[in-house]
Amino acid sequence: MAGSGENWKKAKPSKYAIEDGKLVRNGEVCLQPGCGPGVFMAVHKDRKHCGRCGYSEKNE
Ligand SMILES: [Zn+2]
Repeated sequence: MAGSGENWKKAKPSKYAIEDGKLVRNGEVCLQPGCGPGVFMAVHKDRKHCGRCGYSEKNE
């Protein structure tokens, strides 16, 4: 029964954040054909990876 009412805080981090009333995307979208806006790439320390098409991009 630990943490009842607190579970929502452990949900996956949102890809969006609200700043100054505007919707701000925290994630990078995949711009490859077949993906596009709405398909987010997983951001790793030194690269981004799209779990949908498999595209990955190194960070500068
Ligand atoms: Zn993709």
